Amino acid sequence: LGDEVEAFEQEFAAFVGVPHAVGVGTGTDALTLSLRALGIGPGDEVVSVANAGVAPVAAIRASGAQLRLVDVDPDTLLIDPQYLAGVLGPATRAIVAVHLYGNPVDLGALLEVASARGIPVVEDCAQAHGARWQGESVGSRGRVGCFSFYPTKKIGAFGDGGLCVTHDAQLAARIRE
Ligand SMILES: *Cc1c(COP(=O)(O)O)cnc(C)c1O
Repeated sequence: LGDEVEAFEQEFAAFVGVPHAVGVGTGTDALTLSLRALGIGPGDEVVSVANAGVAPVAAIRASGAQLRLVDVDPDTLLIDPQYLAGVLGPATRAIVAVHLYGNPVDLGALLEVASARGIPVVEDCAQAHGARWQGESVGSRGRVGCFSFYPTKKIGAFGDGGLCVTHDAQLAARIRE
């Protein structure tokens, strides 16, 4: 904590192009705290993919929500928005879109489906620091973007680290609380 983290939050927010960034313990914490700050808990469903390691799934379960898996594109191995309609239901409260291997998810089609139903998109950017979709940084288009600074990631800390970015001042304040 302290001045260095605050300075890093400000620099990283500017790098992504959003007004708010909140430093947290890990990338998994970034996802869990984002889901909880969105009011998600037991009885809710959150949609994500099966091929992104254990972290997004662990974060969804840690929030208390049930996981619903959506299939990926066989070429990019990223979430395929065309399959979303088949898994979104009345209990769906969020979509965790995972940008993998530095490649951005097709956010245009994804955000269109999500916003038509009023479902917030949480961008998992743990493997995509600096990646851009149509010129805009990953993490800046969803309700919240989650980054990891685990030592093996594209920006590594000396130990664990994570960060949430968002345009939403209230959501940032809730995550910080
Ligand atoms: C590493 C990773 C996370 C979690 O980050 P930690 O800091 O290790 O908790 C989340 N999502 C993806 C896709 C990751 O690769």
